[in-house]
Amino acid sequence: MELIKNFINGEYLESSSGDTLDNFNPTTGQPYSKVVNSNAEDIDRAVKAAQAALPIWSGFTHRERADLLLAVGEQLTKRKQEFAEAESQDQGKPVQLALDVDIPRAIENFRFFSNYVLHKEESCSQIDGKGFNYTLRKPVGVTGLISPWNLPLYLLTWKVAPALAVGNTAVCKPSELTPMTAHMLTSIFKDVGVPDGVLNVVYGEGHRAGAPIVQHPDVPLISFTGGTATAESIIKDSAPHFKKLGLELGGKNPNVIFSDCDFEKTLEMTIKSSFNNQGEICLCGSRIFVQEELFDRFVSSFVEKTKALQVGHPSQAETFMGPVVSSGHREKILAYISGAEKDGLKILTGGTEMPVTGDLTSGYFVSPTVIVAPNTSCDIMQEEIFGPVVTITPFQTEEEVLAMANSTKYGLSASVWTQNIDRAHRMAEKIESGTVWVNTWMLRDLRVPFGGMKASGMGREGGEHSIDFYTESKNVCINYAMNAPG
Ligand code: NAD
Repeated sequence: MELIKNFINGEYLESSSGDTLDNFNPTTGQPYSKVVNSNAEDIDRAVKAAQAALPIWSGFTHRERADLLLAVGEQLTKRKQEFAEAESQDQGKPVQLALDVDIPRAIENFRFFSNYVLHKEESCSQIDGKGFNYTLRKPVGVTGLISPWNLPLYLLTWKVAPALAVGNTAVCKPSELTPMTAHMLTSIFKDVGVPDGVLNVVYGEGHRAGAPIVQHPDVPLISFTGGTATAESIIKDSAPHFKKLGLELGGKNPNVIFSDCDFEKTLEMTIKSSFNNQGEICLCGSRIFVQEELFDRFVSSFVEKTKALQVGHPSQAETFMGPVVSSGHREKILAYISGAEKDGLKILTGGTEMPVTGDLTSGYFVSPTVIVAPNTSCDIMQEEIFGPVVTITPFQTEEEVLAMANSTKYGLSASVWTQNIDRAHRMAEKIESGTVWVNTWMLRDLRVPFGGMKASGMGREGGEHSIDFYTESKNVCINYAMNAPG
């Protein structure tokens, strides 16, 4: 079995402890590779390599760095099919989804940020004829980039591309559950000639390999995407060092459907926002609210479409949903479904039964599940499940649905479906979330601020916001005349 090794200073190295983890294929439930389980000593080695590469990389011109990162994007484009298949095998998502979404968006991260830094201007402000200010930007230094398993390459490159484009170096820690495409990306960095030590990738469990990055005194910035509970430790571990922190966390996103929506479009998109990637997207709309006049019609069509979804082998073209990422995650999802049943909630389709047969029953499959939830207080309406499970709840008025939409600790994203533009604006203003989509979902533009309110995150990334985050900006104030009053 292949052993995925740390990538440090351009070399592939085992952990100093020799410890490894099995890497499972969620479709078969069998290990298919191994990955090193790094420790603090390995992390320190990676940080030292990133520190040594910093003067070289930050000394490159923007154009030199952009050209290398564009070349990474080009290589990814050439190897798109191979990366999509690897992502699917490692994570469980359909190959077609990886081909349509994950890999193109990873490529776009490199293209977008390489170009962005070449065209960025800084502002200059005058002070009433006395002087003026301008902004200097410097890379922050060695960045710690920690990413989750649901969109492995896409979310890793969302951090790597802007961090490196502005001249930082990086120590990355992908999820131990999905290390494969990060490992493949390191080969591209070598091939295109990015200097050794600029990108370092270490693997292993969060407490062993992630925490030492956060605790390391020579890593002044942490960009973390993952669970809200993990983020609490990250905040604590980084506090003594006053690190720059970007936290992109969990969600329990409302999908608010008014009776004047475009019915067919809303239905089609709600199926996607509920079950794409097995519901394992932080932006999935796991709480569906439907206005009473439309409730019965919507529920009946939604359940019919859900039942028709193909759950199966991710490599087959007709498959809409593959397995969830791990056996532990499957258990967690099924426990939420059982809990809802015990709370007396009605399961309209799905539930705990295995949705596949034959060879696939050793995989981690979960049926797409729709549950009617009459109020927002139950666990299944408050806690992030991060699987193919949605609740449907009726509402009457705008005020009522706003209160329900805002009733969780999360505030990541929301979708509002209505043809009434005034109502759309009112809802967009009042929903507590970092992104509000109106009559759409997952329509992304890399220029806009992305992040969450409340327990869904801290800070924003995307376009200008990423540049701000990954640089230190310094104001320089110049007096026009030496003898002018100070
Ligand atoms: P997780 O928090 O368990 O792990 C995320 C990463 O952090 C992994 O690489 C893990 O090894 C590492 N880690 C774990 N403990 C750590 C510690 N103490 N110190 C440092 N690193 C540590 O999350 P997950 O289960 O991999 O991902 C699912 C979560 O991610 C969900 O809550 C989902 O909503 C969230 N997510 C959010 C976004 C977003 O953009 N807001 C995007 C995708 C996923």
